[in-house]
Amino acid sequence: MKNFVLVIGSVAFDDVKTPFGERRNALGGSAVFFSMAASHFTNVRIVGVAGKDYPEDAIKMLCDHNVDTHGLEIAEGKTFRWGGVYHEDINIRDTLYTHLNVFADFKPIIPPDYQQSPFLFLGNIQPSLQLDVLNQLQKPRFTALDTMNLWIESTPDDLSKVIEKVDLLLINDSELNLLTGELNLLKGLDKVHEMGPKYVIIKKGEHGAYLSYQRSLFFVPAYPVYQPTDPTGAGDGFAGGFMGYLAACGNVSFRTMKKALIYGSIMGSFVVEDFSVDGLIDLTKNQIESRYKTLRQMVTL
Ligand code: AMP
Repeated sequence: MKNFVLVIGSVAFDDVKTPFGERRNALGGSAVFFSMAASHFTNVRIVGVAGKDYPEDAIKMLCDHNVDTHGLEIAEGKTFRWGGVYHEDINIRDTLYTHLNVFADFKPIIPPDYQQSPFLFLGNIQPSLQLDVLNQLQKPRFTALDTMNLWIESTPDDLSKVIEKVDLLLINDSELNLLTGELNLLKGLDKVHEMGPKYVIIKKGEHGAYLSYQRSLFFVPAYPVYQPTDPTGAGDGFAGGFMGYLAACGNVSFRTMKKALIYGSIMGSFVVEDFSVDGLIDLTKNQIESRYKTLRQMVTL
């Protein structure tokens, strides 16, 4: 039996403009990107909220990918909406708006049959909600947390409380600077480990990602693609590949995590090649394994 990964995060409509095109009402949200990526490795349970305007087809798409959606609440009102525009340098983006809508009053309730999920991913949402979910679970085997500068700046105390309790923190390099006040990677990592997590992943966008554990570092490059179309959700796709592979293996050794990091990088590359979750829908095991092989060859003598 596969180990379930439970994810809590945003379920969104995104309006996105990149140098390569534009999409309105695209399916997005941290929980959706994560679920679609992780579903290629293991069974996923999603907890979140969408509004009455959320399409049946989107729920069907998740179900068709082995994502259990009965923890996804459909509330009176509109779905969370985010709008963003990317610069010519696609690594830079401006947020145009964030409409919380049904997220504003969301109180996550973990269904009884979800409470023993062994793997938990706390996607990027308010830290108080992340903590609430963590407290409703019965001794998860491995917990991971994502966050963003908004929460580091606006709710640092709530964020510290949740960081203290998780096994792994995933952040990007600018968030590391903001969280620790350190520009140096190693000094910043020391400070994050002191805050609680045994494992830390530092995402550096197209420059790859580091995994840190007991002062040992493992690095994986980003999988290079010819046409990055829309980077939205790459971080969540990365997390989905990482956690999905870990859960499928059922062990959390540093060696398994190193492989999981490679799968994370690969799933991020599929996300950026298309708008929304489109790059994750018809993906085959062969396509994933072929990129895994290529990436390994890129870093092995
Ligand atoms: P990423 O590109 O990894 O930052 O993820 C982008 C996704 O996060 C988009 O699909 C958005 O809908 C979602 N998102 C953006 N801002 C927030 C926020 N403040 N809270 C939760 N989700 C967000």
